Amino acid sequence: MAAPSAPPRRIVIENAAIATVDTAGTEYATGHLVVAGERIESLGAGPAPEGLADVDRRIDATGHLVTPGLVNTHHHFYQWLTRGLATDHNLFDWLAALYPTWARIDEPMVRTAAEASLAMMARGGVTTAMDHHYIHPRGTGDLSSAIIGAARDLGVRFTLARGSMDRGERDGGLPPDFAVETTEGALAATEETVRRHHDASFGAMTQVAVAPCSPFSISTELLREGAALGRRLGVRMHTHGSETVEEEKFCHELFGMGPTDYFESTGFLGSDVWMAHCVHMNDTDIAAFARTGTGVAHCPSSNARLAAGIARVPDLLRAGVPVGLGVDGTASNESGELHTELRNALLVNRLGPHREAALTARQALRLGTHGGARVLGRADAIGSLEPGKLADLVLWKLDGLGHSSIADPVAALVLGPPAPVTASFVHGRQIVENNRMLTADEDRIARDARTEARRLARIAGQD
Ligand SMILES: [Zn+2]
Repeated sequence: MAAPSAPPRRIVIENAAIATVDTAGTEYATGHLVVAGERIESLGAGPAPEGLADVDRRIDATGHLVTPGLVNTHHHFYQWLTRGLATDHNLFDWLAALYPTWARIDEPMVRTAAEASLAMMARGGVTTAMDHHYIHPRGTGDLSSAIIGAARDLGVRFTLARGSMDRGERDGGLPPDFAVETTEGALAATEETVRRHHDASFGAMTQVAVAPCSPFSISTELLREGAALGRRLGVRMHTHGSETVEEEKFCHELFGMGPTDYFESTGFLGSDVWMAHCVHMNDTDIAAFARTGTGVAHCPSSNARLAAGIARVPDLLRAGVPVGLGVDGTASNESGELHTELRNALLVNRLGPHREAALTARQALRLGTHGGARVLGRADAIGSLEPGKLADLVLWKLDGLGHSSIADPVAALVLGPPAPVTASFVHGRQIVENNRMLTADEDRIARDARTEARRLARIAGQD
């Protein structure tokens, strides 16, 4: 007979402003939050209830805002090794410049890039990360397990979008032929990764999605079979879509229709799909996303860096489309941080037709938390602070020089300079303290990243 399990240990956080990002947008000017084990047990205004048993730790969070942990919905970790290159290019020219280097990645490079990408985000308040990894050069082994291992070691909740490409240059695609997989090989490896690593449970730390790369790097068959595979396995699907005018032109020339119609014709729209970018969408495209429940990963900095355009986020939200935020790969967003995307999403969208009515500070925070959780299919478990949900949360320090004169804590977080993270918890476990990882040696990761970036540049330079 199993021994009776011990009661969960408690962490009590008090004297903080709290933005729960629940459906009603409940906030407390001064409140408390109690974590029991891996879950949020209770929260509310004023001090915590007296007489709580099994309290391991009490945190006086005076001067802080507590929010749900940030959820990143689009990234390419391996790009950490190719930051700051092709800095004045549009998407297609940038891809053409970088693909030959990317095609030389190996497992130690990918592992180091994953650690660096994860650490950079986590110490800025990300508690759930994702990696859309679509380059699997022949003979490089099981890159998916290397990436998942890095997330597990750092203690970050994680979705691996197992990406793939099978349309090389000889088939009219953008990637070089030696960087792509066969259609059958990509599908088989994706299924193997799902079976090996995907956890469908409420508290899952690791999930896997089926993620063919983009219309200009994959065959129609891979898109169609990828959607069928995802549905057969009961996991989510992800890809890039409607990122640039060049992609739109490519789809019209090759398929006789725009990207959204093309995705729908292959089964790649649905409430189990989320798509990165979605910049060039007309009203019919937005209606198709709303009708099918397809989600969007909005990546404002990357879209600006590659001169892609401004996604119609206010229109997507008004139509009921789930929208989260994404860093995107750090070759097109060198900062590698998500908390800065709250501000950038607000600012960039105000440059669009809706101007000052485009997004509020609270909507920006919602995109980065609850919106991201919806997009990843995890809104039952994460993305807001509510009793019973997983304890993924961040204590932002707002009483220092950068923020202390802003009375509204949510405005301070979104509009002010990047706020220091005093503590960040994932699954009830603290992984960040005072902007430093507790679960990894950042200096070691920084050294390894420099070494691996130089090794990649050297190998690629020999071609
Ligand atoms: Zn991307």
